[in-house]
Amino acid sequence: MGIKIDGKALADKIQADMKLEVEQLVSQGVQPGLVVLLVGENPASQTYVKNKELAATRLGMHSEVSLYEASITEADLLAEIQRYNEDPKFHGILVQLPLPEHIDSEKVLLAIDPKKDVDGFHPMNLGKLFMGAPEMIPCTPYGIMKMFEAYDIDLEGKNAVVIGRSNIVGKPMAHLLLEKNATVTVTHSRTKDLPAVAKQADILVVAIGRGHFVTKEFVKEGAVVIDVGMNRDENGKLIGDVKYDEVEPLASYITPVPKGVGPMTITMLMAQTIEAAKRKER
Ligand code: NAP
Repeated sequence: MGIKIDGKALADKIQADMKLEVEQLVSQGVQPGLVVLLVGENPASQTYVKNKELAATRLGMHSEVSLYEASITEADLLAEIQRYNEDPKFHGILVQLPLPEHIDSEKVLLAIDPKKDVDGFHPMNLGKLFMGAPEMIPCTPYGIMKMFEAYDIDLEGKNAVVIGRSNIVGKPMAHLLLEKNATVTVTHSRTKDLPAVAKQADILVVAIGRGHFVTKEFVKEGAVVIDVGMNRDENGKLIGDVKYDEVEPLASYITPVPKGVGPMTITMLMAQTIEAAKRKER
């Protein structure tokens, strides 16, 4: 039977410490500030943004959400980012993705001051991560690394398989695992015989976005299984990429969905905003 990695409990614990840290910073005249820019009315994005705002406010941070019509021009959005880059109240700037098609996301991410890029998506921050000297780290893989740490899961020399190669999860995850001296295989939709490759993993991280895709055929006995997926089943219930009930008996550790990776992602976003505020004061 696998030990359940309780992302919610870990996130609550880390956030309780962060709240005290923010109190202390505020008493020194520094209130960490986060602004989230949301373009258009995508309901999923609205929920994510609301959760980020709530978390920041709960921690005593200065939090703002800036809403824009879906028709905003790229130039106007870039000007808004520039305005926030220059505003000392904000240590973190996050542009909620996806953006409408007429806006070039890459240009937008490049416009954010890398020191305020608390999502860790700026090419400068990704470059630093790939060079082994990370500063701002994409929050989902960062949160997963914190889970390994909290549960004393040793990565040194382990076979790690990452399923999915997105810029925000799969690729940065692979680099973070590499930093901890795991032997990393990155797999994707063109990988041949994926179950056989996944079955080699001591550490299996799944980030593909397909409900219950990973079954027991993918998992070696004793593997650590991390499920990043957030999908809706036919009844609208939130489910992961991993068939939990089937895989859990095989795994040594496993994250559930919900209350696994999700709460840690948002926690790391807050942690990086606080870190950015502290760095600015140094
Ligand atoms: P993405 O950009 O859509 O990337 C999905 C990746 O999965 C791609 O690399 C794709 O391969 C691969 N893939 C798709 N189908 C596959 C298959 N049948 N076999 C093997 N690989 C396959 O997704 P993402 O942004 O990384 O997100 C992945 C999942 O994590 C989604 O469910 C998302 O909602 C969730 N997520 C959760 C959090 C959280 O906080 N919990 C944060 C971010 C994302 P190709 O490159 O070959 O197309």
